[in-house]
Amino acid sequence: MIAPVNLLLIAALAGVLSLCVLGSLARSGMAGIKETIGANLLTLLAFFAFGLQNTSAPLWLTILVPNMAIALALCAYYAGVRRLMGLGVPRHLMMIGCGVALTVLVVYTYVDWQVGPRIIAMSFLQMGFMMAVAHTIQRNMPVHRSRYSYRFVWVVALISSVVCVARAGIYLADIAVPEGILEPTFWNVAFLTLGVLVMPCLTLGTIMIIHDRMLADREQEANTDFLTGLMSRKAWWMQAERYCAQALRTRRPLTLLLLDIDYFKRINDTHGHMAGDAVLRHFGLLATATLRTGDHVGRVGGEEFGVLFPDMRGDAVMDVAARLLDSVRRTPCSHGGSTISYTFSAGVAEWVPGENLQVFFERADRKLYAAKAAGRNRIVGPGLDAERPQLPVAA
Ligand code: GH3
Ligand code: MG
Ligand code: MG
Repeated sequence: MIAPVNLLLIAALAGVLSLCVLGSLARSGMAGIKETIGANLLTLLAFFAFGLQNTSAPLWLTILVPNMAIALALCAYYAGVRRLMGLGVPRHLMMIGCGVALTVLVVYTYVDWQVGPRIIAMSFLQMGFMMAVAHTIQRNMPVHRSRYSYRFVWVVALISSVVCVARAGIYLADIAVPEGILEPTFWNVAFLTLGVLVMPCLTLGTIMIIHDRMLADREQEANTDFLTGLMSRKAWWMQAERYCAQALRTRRPLTLLLLDIDYFKRINDTHGHMAGDAVLRHFGLLATATLRTGDHVGRVGGEEFGVLFPDMRGDAVMDVAARLLDSVRRTPCSHGGSTISYTFSAGVAEWVPGENLQVFFERADRKLYAAKAAGRNRIVGPGLDAERPQLPVAA
């Protein structure tokens, strides 16, 4: 049977490796990394102090220090998970748990020497933390992304809770209570093997979650237009293709509104480029406030915007577009002490089953062109035949 001290050594090496990987992530500034590093450092301290048990080192160093290091490592890990999920940390509750465990450790070390109650207290403490970790992860699983890394941590935390309960149960039943953590009995080695694997496994899972979150952040940045906060053209286009495929499958209607701010160059020339940017942001806010959350709005060009309306016919979209135009007319943009009034022209097209997005978009664009040609500040709907090119109004 493997000697417990060797188990501690192997687990310590795994901890060092975890710290190396966490160190590479530390500069990302993501919440929860510092706490996870702290949890691993405390676990290493605990392994080191436990390893001194069969030496002449004092009891406080070989029992109190390692057990409290484990308790604080659990606190730090749980705090890291909560921070990573954007949640607060229940400091008081954690400190009460650690305080109770410390009291049991002191009593059964200095007042009445017994190993069993100490192991049982630490098992219950760890079980509590592991169940809390599993619960937090379960409630914060992502909806649209892979849940693999979250499930990994969830499973490790649950298995660890079960092992803690089994350990507490066996030692409560007074079965094979060891004299110390380094005693090579079957149960001790079995529980120690499972126990020392917990922090490296949890850390591995946290690293996977951190990577997933970093990827999600970068995707969000790439898919969002920096100025308006709406979808970028690429993200809008890819999502629009999915809507077309969905409409083909479900045979549900799909309507596209394409709009362009009128005389935008004049706004830039008159008020400056910053004012032009403010108008774009202003329009983004008005559009978001007027549309339903399910409507798919993006900035498809400089001052051009596309909105896809799943499940809506052209006439209903005409109403929404008219409301948006009315809102834009009535709510001018304030910038640097001046008030900038603006309007837009728009085209509305209904998706024809089987049509690809490029053709669909071009049809809406021709209607937008027709609205510009007809004098701007208006919407050309699907009923009007804008397929034939119309000449713009002469300047
Ligand atoms: P029309 O009514 O025909 O659409 O005229 P317009 O002036 O709106 O259109 P035009 O295509 O002549 O000019 C669009 C201008 O939008 C030119 C470009 O410099 C400006 N523009 C594009 N992107 C941005 C941006 O991000 N910020 C600012 N401030 N201006 C931009
Ligand atoms: Mg324009
Ligand atoms: Mg334009």
